[in-house]
Amino acid sequence: MDFRLDEEQQALRESVRDFAREVVAPVIGEHYENHTFPYEVVRQMGKMGLFGLPFPEEHGGMGGDYFALCLALEELARVDSSVAITLEAAVSLGAMPIHRFGTAEQKERWLPKLLSGEALAGFGLTEPGTGSDAGGTQTRAVLDGDEWVINGSKAFITNSGTDITALVTVTAVTGTKPDGSKELSTIIVPSGTPGFTVAPGYSKVGWNASDTHELTFDDCRVPAGNLLGERGRGFAQFLRILDEGRIAIAALAVGLAQGCVDESIAYAKERQAFGQPIGNYQAIQFKIADMELKAHTARLAYYDAAARMLAGEPFKRQAAIAKLHASTVAVDNAREATQIHGGYGFMNEYPVARFWRDSKILEIGEGTSEVQRMIIARDLGM
Ligand SMILES: Cc1cc2nc3c(=O)[nH]c(=O)nc-3n(C[C@H](O)[C@H](O)[C@H](O)COP(=O)(O)OP(=O)(O)OC[C@H]3O[C@@H](n4cnc5c(N)ncnc54)[C@H](O)[C@@H]3O)c2cc1C
Repeated sequence: MDFRLDEEQQALRESVRDFAREVVAPVIGEHYENHTFPYEVVRQMGKMGLFGLPFPEEHGGMGGDYFALCLALEELARVDSSVAITLEAAVSLGAMPIHRFGTAEQKERWLPKLLSGEALAGFGLTEPGTGSDAGGTQTRAVLDGDEWVINGSKAFITNSGTDITALVTVTAVTGTKPDGSKELSTIIVPSGTPGFTVAPGYSKVGWNASDTHELTFDDCRVPAGNLLGERGRGFAQFLRILDEGRIAIAALAVGLAQGCVDESIAYAKERQAFGQPIGNYQAIQFKIADMELKAHTARLAYYDAAARMLAGEPFKRQAAIAKLHASTVAVDNAREATQIHGGYGFMNEYPVARFWRDSKILEIGEGTSEVQRMIIARDLGM
């Protein structure tokens, strides 16, 4: 077992690290304060090929794998999580369902622009009345001639309302199965379709430079051919997408946790108290050592889950463990990094304040910590 990165992976990590420090860091504070979407940064990420990382070259991808995406997410989140979640949601929730389940025609139509970063796609699963219990979906789609007619609403959908959002994949009830349970299917709804309304962006605690909206569908009609994959496979599809997505969110959380270590070391070496740098005090050194320990073990957890996934082995439990552990660690490290920064840690101009505000959602999005524990326990036969 060897978790050292090969030359290509190291080169990718270095180039995203440089990009995050040189391009993202100087501008992200202002976007965060003003709640604006960083179009220019996203455009440059597109040029670097980040949106196409885990996809085959056939549709404009970079021919890499899911682990490459995770490495990029970790390095971006080490500097900023809004940019990282924009990439995570665009790739693992936006383009991936079309790549995995789409017809040749759907792939041809949508993937080239999604993989170049020219366009973004949202993943519409969560609803105002149901999140963890996704089987409780209320949005309905009825086939009327050669069109689906969609009615319902979706909550908290990332990348769903930017100027470059091309579509949202929507999970909807399309019938009843012979055993009486709901038949769930996924349907592609292009932006601008009549009856599809995007509400103004939410006022959020964190991820302020990322794009999140509530969506409503009011007799929204799309062609029957917009069904993604087989009718009735919606449940299996989103479970697969979320299992993978948990590894990506774990990588993002590790990045935030490592960013807290970076900022804390720099600050502790510089800040003076009682005649010397606070980094000379063992109490501060131990905090930083514990933060590094947590970031490192969380990284190993997501490397392991990704390795299993890429080997075609079962990885559900390991992905849940990685997501649960990394998000806990991110929250812990953000709290400690803020503490090390004292009063300045509570000021928005310091990156650790952003890290603190951005960390909490990691214990909630793409399956809460309770849901991860349910998955782990179920996989252990309980
Ligand atoms: C900024 C942001 C971006 C998001 N982006 C997207 C997106 O792009 N697409 C998308 O579809 N969704 C998105 N989400 C939604 C997110 O995935 C959900 O918020 C999350 O899954 C939790 O669902 P919920 O908010 O409905 O909470 P609920 O499911 O209502 O849970 C409330 C609480 O109850 C607990 N709970 C629920 N059931 C159980 C149980 N059986 N046992 C023990 N505890 C339980 C939960 O763990 C939680 O603590 C986003 C959310 C946010 C905030």
